[in-house]
Order: sequence, then structure tokens, then C-alpha cells
Amino acid sequence: MQNNPNTTLVTATAPIATATHGGRAKCLQRLARLDLPVPPTVALSFDAVQSIASGHLPDIDAILRQFPQDALLCVRPSSEDPDWGGPSAILNIGMNDSRHGVLCDTLGRDPASALFTRFVQSFAIHVDRLDPDMFDDITGEGAEALQQALAAYERETETAFPTTRAEQLASVLKSMARAWDGTSARLLRQAKGAPADAGLGLVIQQMAFGIGQGESGSGVLQLVSSKTGKPQITGRYLRQSQGRDALFGDASLYITRDDRGPSLEELVPDCFAQLVDHARLMRAKLREEMQVEFTIENGQLHILDGVRVARSSRATVRIAVQLARDDVIPRQEALMRVEPRTLNELLHRQVDRHAKRDVLGSGIAASPGAATGRLVFTAEDAQASASRGEDCILVRRETSPEDIRGMHAAKAVITERGGITSHAAVIGRGLGLPCVVGISNIRFQTRKSQLSTQDGRVLSAGDIVTVDGTNGTILLGAPAMLEPALDDAFQDLMDWADAERDIGIRANADTPADAQTARNFAAQGIGLCRTEHMFFEAGRLTVMREMIFAETSDDRRAVLERLLPMQRTDFVQLFNIMQGQPVCIRLFDPPLHEFLPVDRAGQGELAAALDLPLSDVTRRIESMMEYNPMLGLRGVRLGVTVPEIYEMQARAIFQAAVFASKGGAPVVPEIMIPLVSAKREVELVRSRVDAIAAAVTAETGVDFTYRLGVMVETPRAALRAGDIAEHASFLSFGTNDLTQMTYGLSRDDAGRFMSDYVRQEVFVEDPFHTLDIDGVGELLQLGSARGRSARPDITLSICGEHGGNPESIAFCRSAGFDYVSCSPFRVPVARLAAAQLAIADKIE
Ligand code: PEP
Ligand code: MG
Repeated sequence: MQNNPNTTLVTATAPIATATHGGRAKCLQRLARLDLPVPPTVALSFDAVQSIASGHLPDIDAILRQFPQDALLCVRPSSEDPDWGGPSAILNIGMNDSRHGVLCDTLGRDPASALFTRFVQSFAIHVDRLDPDMFDDITGEGAEALQQALAAYERETETAFPTTRAEQLASVLKSMARAWDGTSARLLRQAKGAPADAGLGLVIQQMAFGIGQGESGSGVLQLVSSKTGKPQITGRYLRQSQGRDALFGDASLYITRDDRGPSLEELVPDCFAQLVDHARLMRAKLREEMQVEFTIENGQLHILDGVRVARSSRATVRIAVQLARDDVIPRQEALMRVEPRTLNELLHRQVDRHAKRDVLGSGIAASPGAATGRLVFTAEDAQASASRGEDCILVRRETSPEDIRGMHAAKAVITERGGITSHAAVIGRGLGLPCVVGISNIRFQTRKSQLSTQDGRVLSAGDIVTVDGTNGTILLGAPAMLEPALDDAFQDLMDWADAERDIGIRANADTPADAQTARNFAAQGIGLCRTEHMFFEAGRLTVMREMIFAETSDDRRAVLERLLPMQRTDFVQLFNIMQGQPVCIRLFDPPLHEFLPVDRAGQGELAAALDLPLSDVTRRIESMMEYNPMLGLRGVRLGVTVPEIYEMQARAIFQAAVFASKGGAPVVPEIMIPLVSAKREVELVRSRVDAIAAAVTAETGVDFTYRLGVMVETPRAALRAGDIAEHASFLSFGTNDLTQMTYGLSRDDAGRFMSDYVRQEVFVEDPFHTLDIDGVGELLQLGSARGRSARPDITLSICGEHGGNPESIAFCRSAGFDYVSCSPFRVPVARLAAAQLAIADKIE
């Protein structure tokens, strides 16, 4: 039998592999190699099980000859990946009248009958697939219950309960093989990532009894906490039990000494010590934290199985890191064992997985993490709430730059409209603020300060809700939370990732706070500073509005003179925080009217502040309105037509660079021009910026260098990147606008129908979330190749929201980009994803 790979006794040398016999069979072979007390086991390969499903049983007698004649058996599934599931285990195969008779003598009549009854029931339900209700009428106990169960079986199947071990085993094997082929099992495992043709292996093992005279029982033990991953021997043991009953029984014992009750350690210290030794050996040799399934039979320890310890995200990190620290696995392997996105759960507070969730509605998960607070419906109320020290959740139809201060004050933001790159989403990610946008199944009645759910509940200002930005749900009340875990294990993992990766990671950071977060997460500079956000700070908005209302260029320059020192302070702070790392500052991008008040009251206030008639103000505002502002007078188009703004910004950047360089390494600022579509735009801006640089050098007597680059975010800029590169020392792809313009799809409105589009498979994913490799990706490829061939030393990067996605990083890396830039809180995910790509290449 050892030589037949399809039905093989599990020995140290048997031809068993995970890919042919499944993970459980392979694990049992490893345990056998470690000389652990594993009961005799036969493994059936995927092929063998496939043959059984199509009606060809293996030689059952040959299998049975591997076990003592009167031994009871169990059969358990062995799929390639344990997460893919499989049919339930069947224990005590071989139970019949004569075996029952023997057990009555050794165990006593009642326990023996209870075992047999349980076997009849599990055989009926799992093997014959009968309705569990058929046993509802069993009223007796012990032998009487057994007779009732057997009678019920006969009634239902019109046959006697199978009596021989061979018959029972054959039926179990057939039923398990067919169950794996069933549609629901197939769909279930495919949902977990199994390929369509995933195989099932089976293991047939001699029962170690767990029930009997002397100390008998079963349980599980592991060396670490599943929640934290820290060393902690945990598990349960249930006397006189089999399988995984210990996990559910109220009478289960603790594993180690415990004030709350008796423990295995006190009851059978020898077995406990052996178990811990075995678990340590398994950890070292199987190179993984394993949960040991064991049985004690008359004081004798048996190891039935080892399964990977179930683990939370934070435990995943700690376990992998500790295995590498202990030299059990190399660091590279530890890095590969952590799915980058799981880091999100360490970086933010999360709703505890085990907490009860009362879901009010859902939308697009735009910024991860969870927060609880009282509902507020305006930015002002959010600020008032924060000043009272009360946590609040800001509710808006959509946010605009005017809501920034409210967003800072809130613990989370939810919006009715918007998608993954809408204002709320971008700002939320920057601030590390949980955010759900595009919530279509809650009615937003913001004027009434109310939210109505689909099941008829109405929530008002002041009601407490929790926003789960990790999965995009809004929950009623305050479920239990898990705190972030930026512990030593996380830090080590990040350091190891940096040692491996070969693409730079910068952060998109607009404020000193963002820059500090970027620095804390070891970003290698700022890849995008959206300067317009600085104008929404208290005290600046009015000056900004004055500037917009200026009638002449000189008037505009005069107002900009007042904004200049404010901008300069911003930049000095950024340069100081980033300590010599590159800081890429994007010149002003949005349409000017985004800064103007939309409602009557705001316009009245502005008229008073500017000392103008209200009618003048409303007329000017109306005249600036555009039908399609995202395609209108913004970005470099403002730079060309209203040059004073860029001139002021360039001056502020250069003065700040001179100031921040004093006494330290020289700061080399990077200036980026947004929304370019033609080479001439760059020429015009470049000559003006060069002139300002020369002026600042003359004024300060300090010579400095700077780099001027272009943001490639219109399809034309990508196509003409060769031309444009002539005047640009770097090209940074703004994939938010590039996606919007490539698809002709508004990034602010797409959220309304995106889920329909994804459901109907028009788009595989939201293209604002996952880079569209086929379309937008082709533009990236064209643009980067043309840019680089025109100017081989050009720096290439991406700074749209896609920059933090592992798939986009893979794409950018293979296209030869120098760095990706993403929201500060996504930097760790990007660092790990980039390391994994580099390691995967090295392994190949
Ligand atoms: C972009 O368009 O990709 C980008 C980064 O800029 P913004 O999101 O500010 O338009
Ligand atoms: Mg843009």
C-alpha cells in the first residue's frame, strides 16, 4: 500500500504531497516524521477521491488491513488549502452491535450506547444526507435512545443500519467525494479563492478514543494567542470526549493552571508537558504556529492533527515576525506571509470581529478604520461638538473644501454621494479618518438633520452610530472596538520590507500633520502636496476670496502678497518635517469658484467683508460658474491665464527652501504643474517660475536648485509625454483625473451607479479604486515610455489614489517607475506590497 500513491499509509517516506493529497495528509506525514504519537492513518489522493466520486471505490479491504481488526476509524477531509473547507469529519466508523457489546464492558453501557447513537445520527445526517429532524422523537437515554435511533434510521431508509466496517467506510468515502463535487461546496470554495478544479483528499485514521477508563478526553492546544499572536498557551480539554467537543462543552477544562477552574496541567502534568513539547517541535519543524488536536486515552497522549492557528490581522504580523526572529523562517518568508491589506487593520481602530453589528446601511469603503460618535449634519456642528469634547460623525450629501475644518473635528465622515476619489474620500484617507461614501441605501435628509434606513428607522442629529470605513458599513450604536497595533512586530516587518523593496514610496501630504504621519510611516518624501487645501485654513479663505474678486492684475498681486507669507510658513514646516527628503509641491489646481460661497448667507458675508453690494458678489460668482468645472478653468489653465497665483506660490516655495536650508542640507523643492495637456503650457509656466527663482536668488543672495515637473493627468499629456518631457525633470501620473478623462466618467458622480456597473460586470472593479490596467494603464505605459525615451533621466511616478494599491504598485514597478505616492496611512501597505514584489522576483 505504501507504494500506491493514491491510497497510501502515512509514513515518513510515503509519496504524499499537499498538491496531490491535501494539506492535512501532508501535515500528518510531517508529524509522523517527527515521531509524534499519531495514530495510523491512510491518505487518499485527490485522484482517488475523484475516482470514488465517479463510482470507482479503492480496495476497501486493503485499506482496512492497515488498521487493527477491531479499531474504529475516522475520516476527515484534506483539501489543498484548509480554508477551502470540505465535508464534516465522521468519527467511530466500524461501530456495530458487537463493538458496542465490547464497549459496554469497558466503558459502561450508557457511554457506549451514547457513542453508538451519535454515530448513527452523524451517519444518517452526513452520509445518507437525511433530515436531522428524523431523530426529534428520541426520548430515551442510553440503550433505549440507541434502539430508537436505529429504528428511526430503518424507518427512514427502509434498510438496516450498515453493520460492517467495510460497508460503513465505503459509504462515508462515497458521500464525502460526492459532497465535494456538489454545486454549493464548489461555489463556497471558489468564493474563498479555490480554483474550479481544486481537489479533495481524505485521511482515514484509527480513532484514539478519548473515552474510557483512566484519564481520557480530547482537546486542542496552541502556543500563542489567536488575538494578539503573543506567546500564551491556550486551548481547551474535555474529559470523556472526542473530536473538537472540548471547544464547545461547558465542562471543558483550561489547558494551563487557571484560577477560574481545573486545568489539564494540574490533572495530567506529564501529558501537558509532552503536549507543550510536541507543539514547540511542530512550530520549529512545520515552521508555523500550529494548533495541536490531541486525545488522551487511558493516560496515553495521541496527536491527531495539527492545523494552522486561526489568527487576527495583528496576530498574523506578530506570528510571522516572531518566527523570523527565532530563525524558524527567513525574513523574506515572514514578509510574504502577511497580506499587505491586512496592515490596514493594524493602522486604524477596527470594529471587533466578534462584536454584534446592527447595520443601518452601506456604501463605498473610502477610508479604513472605525469610529463611533453622535451624528452631526454640518461642519460647524462638528466643530462645536469637538469643542465640547464629544465625538461626532459628520454627515454630508458630499463634502466640499468648506467642510475641511468640520472633517478635522469629526471622528468619521459619511456622504450620500461620491466615489473612491471624491473629496471626502481623499481627505479622509489623508487624515486617517474613517469614511464611507456613495451610501445609496440610506436616505439623507440633511435639511431635517435626519437619516432614514431602508427598514424604516429614522436617525436624527445626536444619535450614536459607528462608521466602519474598512468594509463600508454604518452601524447603530457603539460596538466593541480593537485599538491600532503599531507595535514592535509591525515596525520590524516594515524595516525588513524596506530592505527588500526596489521602488520608492512617497506620501501625498497637504498639511504638516499629514507630513508628520508620512514621516512616521517612513515615507521617502512627499509625492504630492495639494497646495489649495492650505487656502481653506481659518483666516485665509477670505483673503483668497478677495484675490479672486480682484479686478486687475495689480490688485490681485497685492492680495497675493498677503497670502505669500502664509504659504511660505506652510512650506517651511513641510521641509522641516521631511528633513531633507524630497517634497513635491503641486501648484494650484481647482477652479477658483470652488472657494466661493454657494448659499445666500455666505454670499452676504462675503459682500460685507469685501465691502461690495451683494448683487455684485452674486453676479461675479454666477459669471464664474462653469458647466463642466473639472474640464474647465483649473490647473495649468489658471497658471497660464491668471499667472499671479503661480508666481506667488513659486516665490513662497523658493523663499521657504532658502530658509529651511539654513544651517542644514540644502532643500531641493520639486514643483509640479497640474492638468497639463500641451507642451506650450509647460514652457510658459517654466519661464515664469525660472524668472521667480532668479529673482529670489538675487534677493536672498542664496543660490538654490529646484526641479520642475508635470502632472500627467490628461490623456493628451500621456500621449505627448515625449514633447512635454523636454521641459520636465519628472512626470507624475495623476490617475484620478486620468481615469476620469480616459473613461469620460465623473469621479464625483460615478459612485451613484458604480456598484451596478461592477455587479453587471461592465467594470471588473471601480476603476477609481483599482487601476484599469487595460485602458488607463496603456496610457501610463505610453506616457512613461515616451517620456523616458525623450529624457532618459526623467523621474517617473504615480500620485493618484491608485498609488497605494498593491496591484498598481506591481504595474508601476514593471513599467520602471521610480516611486509611487499614496495617502500617508497607506504607506505601510505600499511598502510591504513593494517588498513582496521584489522578493517574488528574486525567488523566481
Ligand atoms: C489626480 O488627478 O490623480 C491627482 C492626484 O490629483 P487630484 O486628485 O488632486 O485631482
Ligand atoms: Mg488631478
